Amino acid sequence: MSKIHNFSAGPCILPQEVIEQSAAAIREFDGMGLSLIEISHRSKNFERVMDEARQLVKDILNLEPRFEVLFLQGGATLGFYTTALNYLKEGGKAAYANTGVWAAAAIKEAKLVGNVDVIADSSDKNHSYIPSFEVPSGYDYFHFTSNNTIYGTQYQSYPKCDVPMVCDMSSDIFSKQFDANQFAMIYAGAQKNMGPAGTVLYVIDTEQLGKTGRKLPTYMDLKAHIEKDSMYNTPPVFAVYASMLTLRWIKNNGGLKGMEDRNRAKKDLFYNELDRNSLFHGHSEPASRSWMNPTFRLNDDSIAAEFDKLWKDAGISGIAGHRSVGGYRASMYNALPIESVQVLVDVMREFERCKG
Ligand SMILES: *Cc1c(COP(=O)(O)O)cnc(C)c1O
Repeated sequence: MSKIHNFSAGPCILPQEVIEQSAAAIREFDGMGLSLIEISHRSKNFERVMDEARQLVKDILNLEPRFEVLFLQGGATLGFYTTALNYLKEGGKAAYANTGVWAAAAIKEAKLVGNVDVIADSSDKNHSYIPSFEVPSGYDYFHFTSNNTIYGTQYQSYPKCDVPMVCDMSSDIFSKQFDANQFAMIYAGAQKNMGPAGTVLYVIDTEQLGKTGRKLPTYMDLKAHIEKDSMYNTPPVFAVYASMLTLRWIKNNGGLKGMEDRNRAKKDLFYNELDRNSLFHGHSEPASRSWMNPTFRLNDDSIAAEFDKLWKDAGISGIAGHRSVGGYRASMYNALPIESVQVLVDVMREFERCKG
């Protein structure tokens, strides 16, 4: 099993120890004689899991006391709408940056709620770059997507902004050091860098919440979830448990600094080969390159079948590109070992040697 090099864009690779501990907890959890997925979420045993998961996020992100952490459902996709409901005032307006499919989906949902200005847009070049811009004042909030999973672009620094800042960090949360305390809210679907599909993380500055005057359905009201310590309704117990284990793994492996060192080594190894190799070119502009989702193409698509055979024979899985970009995408999330990147680089070199 471990001979597969898993470059899947999501759901994706998790640390092997997380897979093993999760499997064990499905059989029997916490010495209870019962499975994790057949006990009450109100049991002390599960409450400890939820508490630890929330605390680990606070520790790893070094959050100031005004922040709260939730594990909800509906993915980042429901987060798009939840964001607008909780931060866009009646008659107010929000600023958005459109840097790809997910950013555009967030804009679409916010427009159902109120006024949206798109203040930066990279669609002129198929989202191959992160535009540079400042956020004008006067908005209820500014929303952006820190890492564009499909196009392989990533903000290298965050925009200058004096309105509340909301970020979809689904595909790069916990991947390198950053100041989480500057955000009004961060949200992230678990299944790219934190755990299995089924839960979405919200990191919320409670002082910037509840200012819209809107009456919301309870599940959509982030305040209601905070008041109930993320247990307003039945949480996705397995997804929260496996996320908690992954968060432990992140903390035990040096936290954000440890992940950054690991991920920098991997992206350097990959991009150095991409720049050196005469058969390939990247999709994203070098100054906007993602550490998590490098996207690349063959200069000559007619030799793709031969390349595909080589990487498949090497045990590589999941590098076919997204249909809106084509080519290849080698996702290198936290849990992917550098040895897997080395295997891909070796295949690219070998292919160049055969063709050269
Ligand atoms: C995958 C992804 C999403 C969608 O997440 P779901 O959990 O499937 O709703 C949203 N934003 C980004 C940046 C993503 O990578």
